[in-house]
Amino acid sequence: MELAATVQGVRQLVGDARARGLSIGLVPTMGFLHEGHAELIRRARADCGFVVVTIFVNPLQFGPCEDLESYPRDLARDLQVAAVAGADVVFHPAVEEMYPPGFATHVDVHGLGTVLCGASRPGHFGGVATVVAKLFNIVLPDRAYFGQKDYQQTVVLRRMVRDLAFDIEMVTVPTVRHEDGLAMSSRNAYLATAERRAVTVLHDSLEMARHRILAGERDGTALEAAIRERMEGEPLARVDYVAVADPDTLAPVTRLEGTLLVALAAFVGRTRLIDNALIDVPARG
Ligand code: AMP
Repeated sequence: MELAATVQGVRQLVGDARARGLSIGLVPTMGFLHEGHAELIRRARADCGFVVVTIFVNPLQFGPCEDLESYPRDLARDLQVAAVAGADVVFHPAVEEMYPPGFATHVDVHGLGTVLCGASRPGHFGGVATVVAKLFNIVLPDRAYFGQKDYQQTVVLRRMVRDLAFDIEMVTVPTVRHEDGLAMSSRNAYLATAERRAVTVLHDSLEMARHRILAGERDGTALEAAIRERMEGEPLARVDYVAVADPDTLAPVTRLEGTLLVALAAFVGRTRLIDNALIDVPARG
C-alpha cells in the first residue's frame, strides 16, 4: 500500500491504475479508523480494481466550539487498518495541501444541509460537501463509499453529485455496530466508562421505535415524543434532536407509511453522538 501526501502524488498513482484498466473506488474518512471504516474499504475492495482511502480531519466541517483540535488521530494504526482492509493507497494531505492560501470556493447544498444535524452544526455540511467535491476532483473515482451512520451526509452528497453532474456511483454501507448496538464512531473514544454504558440509549431508542411501528404506531408526532421520552430517561444523555422524517427529503413525517428515517443526536458529557434507522412501515392488511 502506498501513502500519498500531495494532490499530485495521489493523482499519479490513480492515473497509473486507470491506465492499467482498473476501476477506482474512493473511501473518504477523517481517520482513527475502526471496523465501520474497514467495512467501507472492504466493500470498495470487492467492487473496484483500485481503492483510495483518504484520511483528512477537515477543518471546514468543524464549528468554532467543536472538537477539531482534540479529534483523535493515529496515522500509524490507520495505515495498518487500511492495508488489512484492502486499500491500495492512503491519501493523507496536510491542511495547506487541501486549502492553500487564498482558497475561496465553497459548495453548499441548500435546504438539506440546514436541518437535523445541520441545525445544531451550522456550516458543517457545506464543509463536508466542499471537501468531498475536491476529493472527487482529485481522485475522479468511479464509485465512492459512505456509511449509513452519517445518513444525512449521504443525502446531502447524493444531491451534490446529482446537481453538479459528478459521474460517480454513490454507495451507502450499513452501520457497523458494537455488540450492545452502539454505532462505531471515532468519537466513542471520548466516552468515560459510565458514559459508554449510557450511550446504548441511542440504539435502544431506535429499536423501540421499530417495535412501536410493528405494533401499529402510525402517528409520527406520537412516535417522536415516545423516542424523546425514552432518551430523556437516560440521565447522562441530553437530546439534541429526534426526527421522524422522509428518507429522501428529510422533511418531518406525521403519517407513517413506506420507508421512514428515524434519526437521533444526543450529547453525553461533551461528546455528541448520532444514530439512525431506516424502517419499513408495514402496509395495513
Ligand atoms: P468519519 O471518519 O467519521 O468521517 O467517517 C468516514 C466514513 O465512514 C463516513 O462515510 C462514515 O459514514 C463512515 N462510518 C463511520 N462510522 C461508521 C460505522 N459505524 N458504520 C459504517 N460506516 C461508518
